[in-house]
Amino acid sequence: MRSMLFVASALALSACTTTAPVATSSASTDPGAHEAEFRGLYKELIETNTSFSVGSCTLASERMKARLLAAGYPESDLHILVNPGPKRPQDGNLVAILPGSDATQKPILLMAHIDVVEARREDWVRDPFVLTEDGGYFYARGASDDKAMAAIFVDSLVRFKQEGYKPARTIKMMLNCGEEANGEFIGADYMVKNHRALIDAEFALNEGAGGRMDPDTGKYIFNGVQAGEKLYQDFTIEITNPGGHSSRPVPDNAIYELGQALMKVQAYEFPIEFNDATRTFFRRMGAITPGQEGQDMRDAADGENAAAIRRLMANPSYNATLRTTCVATMITAGHAPNALPQRATANVNCRIFPGHTQEEIRQKLVGAINNADVKVSLKSPPETPMKPPPLPPHILGPIEQLTEKMWPGVPVIPAMATGATDGRFTTPAGIATYGVSGIFADSNTTNAHGLNERVGVKQLMEGRMFLYQLVKMYAGGK
Ligand SMILES: [Zn+2]
Repeated sequence: MRSMLFVASALALSACTTTAPVATSSASTDPGAHEAEFRGLYKELIETNTSFSVGSCTLASERMKARLLAAGYPESDLHILVNPGPKRPQDGNLVAILPGSDATQKPILLMAHIDVVEARREDWVRDPFVLTEDGGYFYARGASDDKAMAAIFVDSLVRFKQEGYKPARTIKMMLNCGEEANGEFIGADYMVKNHRALIDAEFALNEGAGGRMDPDTGKYIFNGVQAGEKLYQDFTIEITNPGGHSSRPVPDNAIYELGQALMKVQAYEFPIEFNDATRTFFRRMGAITPGQEGQDMRDAADGENAAAIRRLMANPSYNATLRTTCVATMITAGHAPNALPQRATANVNCRIFPGHTQEEIRQKLVGAINNADVKVSLKSPPETPMKPPPLPPHILGPIEQLTEKMWPGVPVIPAMATGATDGRFTTPAGIATYGVSGIFADSNTTNAHGLNERVGVKQLMEGRMFLYQLVKMYAGGK
């Protein structure tokens, strides 16, 4: 399957690579200009399969590098780096640098992952690895997560070079592989551990937040910025038992014991907590949310009103914003249908509120289960806990100004991500990472990780204009 796929797309793509733009003084600084070139770039990136099973981030990196070279970037400012450990030459990460004129200002880092979640043709309405425009949407795997931002960042760097733009602050871009993978395959972790100096920056822009749109009216509700995220950790809950013949069952059974342990995990409520990002989130959302829900948000943010919080917890997203959550996601048990089970194991996935360690949460689970026979262990090596990055005026200000300019009256709302991004490697390494895209979507538009993933064409082009301008606001120069 692997080779077939590539041959097909290579042919299709060789056609569009010839359209790679060259450095020209007629480059317009109108944020929306050169849309055709952007569409060609986005299509090329989308149609380069970068799924873990059959794709190649290295091929995608080489194609984006070719565009940057054609725009005038010297080879010395373009780096394709592959983690030798996993022996997967196809897991290339791309770093591109546009040097700034003011060495007193630390660089800004533009981050996006170019790998995508698996997608099977037979499950989709359209080919997931062919960019399709239909009914005001772009459909494809990665259309939203995360090739929208990757394409916008490469396109912006191409335009900056063509315009002869000289930033004061150095602008770096890192396109990572392995964000959707695990362990040693995670490109961002490898880059932080092995190429820290190359990607050094004061702060980074990354996926993790976008604008929220009303699903019925299409009205823009708020533009999100993500500051901080919860810590991802899987725990293994395990019981063993001598077992025996199933024709002579005994009360002591590994599967039942595991079931009882999981019921206690389900019943356990981690304490309610707030940090700057989550308190600001509820305060600002409370200001634009009508009715009881809005009142509850304000009462929660300003007074930690227990009744208000209890009502908010009925909403899974607000619940996940208010505390650590742990949930059983996988279970394996038993070795034969006619034998009493000797081992029963469950995976419990926790999203840990910032400020707590994995060991602390493991102890909480042990306490909740309260059964010495039940073993609770970390499934994977613990990642570095992170303190949410601050949101100082020189970071939040430009986002608010640009949002007001592009979408007058639409508020900016900071939030803590309940999911995980590559920011969980860069922020603890000292590069404060913020999720911001300016790409609006309603709660059921993108279908990221799901079938028929999509992004609004208008919204993608607005995100392009937003990020192109935002980067220039941060980098200064002219
Ligand atoms: Zn993603």
